[in-house]
This record gives sequence, structure tokens and C-alpha cells, in this order.
Amino acid sequence: MTQQNVVVSDANSRINLQALTAAVSNSINVATAAHKSPAAPPGGAVAGFISIYRNKFLKTLDINGAAKINSLVDSMRASSPSRHHSSTTTLTTSPNDPQHNSWILHHPSALDMFEQIIEASRGKQIVVFLDYDGTLSPIVDDPDRAFMSDAMRKTVRNLARCFPTAIVSGRCRDKVYNFVRLAELYYAGSHGMDIKGPTKISKYNKESKAILFQPACEFLPMMAKVYRLLVEKTSSTPGAKVENNKFCVSVHFRCVDEKKWSELANQVRSVLKEYPKLRLTQGRKVLEIRPRIKWDKGEALEFLLQSLGFANCTDVFPVYIGDDRSDEDAFKKLRERGKGYGILVSKFPKDTSASYSLQEPDEVMDFLQRLVEWKRVSVRTRRFRV
Ligand SMILES: [Mg+2]
Repeated sequence: MTQQNVVVSDANSRINLQALTAAVSNSINVATAAHKSPAAPPGGAVAGFISIYRNKFLKTLDINGAAKINSLVDSMRASSPSRHHSSTTTLTTSPNDPQHNSWILHHPSALDMFEQIIEASRGKQIVVFLDYDGTLSPIVDDPDRAFMSDAMRKTVRNLARCFPTAIVSGRCRDKVYNFVRLAELYYAGSHGMDIKGPTKISKYNKESKAILFQPACEFLPMMAKVYRLLVEKTSSTPGAKVENNKFCVSVHFRCVDEKKWSELANQVRSVLKEYPKLRLTQGRKVLEIRPRIKWDKGEALEFLLQSLGFANCTDVFPVYIGDDRSDEDAFKKLRERGKGYGILVSKFPKDTSASYSLQEPDEVMDFLQRLVEWKRVSVRTRRFRV
């Protein structure tokens, strides 16, 4: 299992880490081991970080018990740093902050390391996987208004002309398609539980294969019922928003007063305790309810690579860009394969298996544009040589 670095960014985070450690002490293996993996970028490891086996921790963090739900809320607070928290901002965004600098040493900017990334992909087919919220679009208070810019859409369209490209999102597939509106892409909605190939023939989809994969079909009636119950149960919490993402349900905390987060989390728990076949995960100001099946964004990445004909191939170079906890499953999969790179979108030091970082969607667009430009130049150069 991949060891993870935890960067404790401020006093609050330290308290949260202690609370988490106490609440789930059996599930966390705290060590001071250095971090190294086959996909790690140059720079080496920095000793002294606290490492935890986060996967084991997340698996154990179930929905039973108020102590655990409080730990979940604490963890969500720690992983959702806000620009409104001046202490966090000061400590995590200053280029002179040693913790920030150490984190950047482990996860350098993908823009700064562009040439090295291209060098590592030499002779291989780059395949691009993109999360949506917080990666292609900014995080906004109303999740129904998380629109991507026309410039980003144009960039992703150009990208898909150069490389096989997939959107992998926690959102319902239809909803994320309505945001992106590019028929030449692969889409994996509901955290990869709803996968569909391009509907438009493209360079990488000449046969227009009708790929459709939904590994959690049997859960649809249960998810619809749980969605209705959660809407009813959380209606008393101002700002709470429940989103039906077909194979999963998201309860958004973005517009809820932080003092009410525990109350809202307990409302979610009171519904879910009747559904042992469902599990609860946490993201950026969101709790997500999913079927308890072994399927996540990492499995979706594998499935899409197989669908593209790259199963067990050594000449494929996946690049996955995402900003949230659920994207870690894909980052981890790339580390396990020892191929390609994960790129975390974050302005703040975070526990991650990604190799590189980008600060915000604007930087993601710059990186994608550079990929397109590099591809166009390399194709022109090859033609000129022929
Ligand atoms: Mg996201």
C-alpha cells in the first residue's frame, strides 16, 4: 500500500489530526517513514513527515457512532481549507513557509516540470483523465452553477484532438456532460460507476464503439430512495444541498454554517444507518454516499485504459488531473502501475499520492494548452523529417 505524507498546515489541522488519530486509532498506522514510489518526481523524499495508511483509515471510517461522524466532519474541515481562514492562508500559501516548501519539493508544479513530464512520456501514448469540479471549473457555492469557461472548453476540445481524453467526475454523467458539452470525450460519472464512450467519431474512436459500463446498476432503486430521504431529513439545515448523482448521492456543506456541520453529518448518518450496503466518503465540503462495491475512480481509469486498447501496455502514459479525495484512488492506481503521473489541483499542502501539483483551474488550462502545443509541434516536426 502506498504510504502517504500528511502535511499539517496549521494549529487547527494539528488538532484535527489528533482527533482523527484518537477516534480511529486502530485504523491508522502512524510512522515517520520517508515517501518514495516509482512514479515520484525528482527531488527525493523528505524525512520526518508523519505518514499514515490512509486507505485503511478511510475503509474503517464507517458511519456508525457519533465519534466517528465527528471525526469525519473534522477531516472534511481539514481537507477543505478556505481562503476565509486567514491563519490557514498565511501558513499554507506563503512561498517562505517551510511546510509549503517541503510539500512543493514533493509535488512540484506540473508547469515548472513540463519538460520532464514530456521526457518521461517519450515514445508512449499520452491519455488524459480530467476531474471536473475544482479542476476544469472553479468550486462555487451552488454546485448547479459550476460552469466551465469557453476558453477551458476550447482547450479540452483541442486536447481531445491530440490525445484520448476522459472526464472522471463524482457528478451524474448527464450533468457533467451538460457542463462540458464535448461529444468526443469519454465520460465516467458517479465516481466512475457510469462510463460511456464518445458519441462523436474522433481520431481515437474511429469505430464509434458503444462503450457503456455501469457496475452498480442494482443499487439504482436504493440510491433514489436514499436521495429522497436525505432531502427530507436535511431540509431543516439552512444551506444544505442534496444532489442526486444517480449511482451516488452528494450532501453539500458549501453553504452551511460550519457550526452546523456536525448536525448535518448526523442527519446523514441517521438515514444511512439503515443502509449497510452503502458507504460514506468525504470530499471538499461534501459527504458522498456510494454503494459498497470495489469500484472507484482508479478502477474507472483502468477500465478506460483497457477500453482504449492499452490493457497491460507498456507504451501508454496516463496523466490524471484532479483536486479531491476521490481522485486519490486514481493517483494511487498510477503509482501502483508505475506509469504516468497524477497531478493534484490545490493551493494548499494536502495528503496526496499525486506526483505533481497545479494551483487552480487556470493553471490546469495552461498545462493542457502546453500539452496541445507540444503535440502540434512534434507532429509538424515529424512530417518535416519525413
Ligand atoms: Mg473535483
